Amino acid sequence: MSTSNLLPLLIENQYLNLVPMKIIPNPSTRNYDPNAKCDYHIGVIGHLTKKCKQLKEKIENLIKDGILSLELMECWKSALPQIRLLLGS
Ligand SMILES: [Zn+2]
Repeated sequence: MSTSNLLPLLIENQYLNLVPMKIIPNPSTRNYDPNAKCDYHIGVIGHLTKKCKQLKEKIENLIKDGILSLELMECWKSALPQIRLLLGS
């Protein structure tokens, strides 16, 4: 389970909203992938949802601020392995 699978759960439970990308991705940058799109950034082309740094940071902050609890994530058992991966613990 990756952040791309976690995203619908977070949206559904109103922990975060989809955000438009503020800066249009530059196709000449090294990380730009013309075949990838990000659901968090409302389908913007250039990176995959699971590789979205802003989404990852957002989830980490929700956990750090105590908004998203580990107890809740316990309920999302199927998501847990990836959440641990995300947190690097
Ligand atoms: Zn993104």
